[in-house]
Amino acid sequence: MPELPEVESFKRYFDKTSLRQKIKRVRLAAPGMLFHSTEKEVLDNLEGNMFTETRRHGKFFFALLKRNGALMLHFGMTGDLVYHKPDKNSPIRFALLIEFANGKNLAFQDTRKLGMIGWVNDVDAFIQRQGYGEDALKISEKEFVASLQKRKTAIKTTIMNQRVVAGVGNEYSDEILFRSSIHPESPANALSDAKLKEIYSHMKSVLKVAVKRRADQKKMSEFFFLENRQAGLKCPEGCKGFTEFKTIGGRSAYFCPGCQKLYT
Ligand SMILES: [Zn+2]
Repeated sequence: MPELPEVESFKRYFDKTSLRQKIKRVRLAAPGMLFHSTEKEVLDNLEGNMFTETRRHGKFFFALLKRNGALMLHFGMTGDLVYHKPDKNSPIRFALLIEFANGKNLAFQDTRKLGMIGWVNDVDAFIQRQGYGEDALKISEKEFVASLQKRKTAIKTTIMNQRVVAGVGNEYSDEILFRSSIHPESPANALSDAKLKEIYSHMKSVLKVAVKRRADQKKMSEFFFLENRQAGLKCPEGCKGFTEFKTIGGRSAYFCPGCQKLYT
């Protein structure tokens, strides 16, 4: 499931393949994925135009156009980018296909179609309108603590709330809380400022290392819950306990009850 590190690696892939090339034609095969945009807006603004740079905010990706705004992509659960040379004998599946004048295509694929496609006039105004919090890699410790300390929801639900901090999803939230030794059901407002600062620091380090690993396509074996989402496993911290599963705020949570303290 693409969270901040995966979207960052899509951004780097896009930067390496798709900037500063004339866009010849755009085809949209999944109009149901349009988000606050019409098909005409996407096609008219992209065709004949060119991508100049990219931005990422949380799990949103933006490819800025030389003229008029940007293409917005959200990778949902199964989104992917494939830059390729078209082959009539084995056509590639796509939700959105961008055909460049150099003969190469960029396909945005999404088998489950839970992602989003749109054209935005102004990226900052879009982020503000959607009410998203600061990006998880950019948010300051002060801002993080201030936006968490008054919330009564479970800490896992709170750090996954994109309006609080943008970019942390289900899987990374388990890893961050495991490293912080905090039970995912602890209400955010039951945690001291010192504990919130610990979460902040683990959030930064987990995401930073994951960005590096994803970019290099390396295994993430140092991340226990990102690699092993299972209940009944021996805790790697040596507490002699076993991992458990629970649905928290409608999402699957894995944790070690031996290491992760429940604050109330
Ligand atoms: Zn443990």
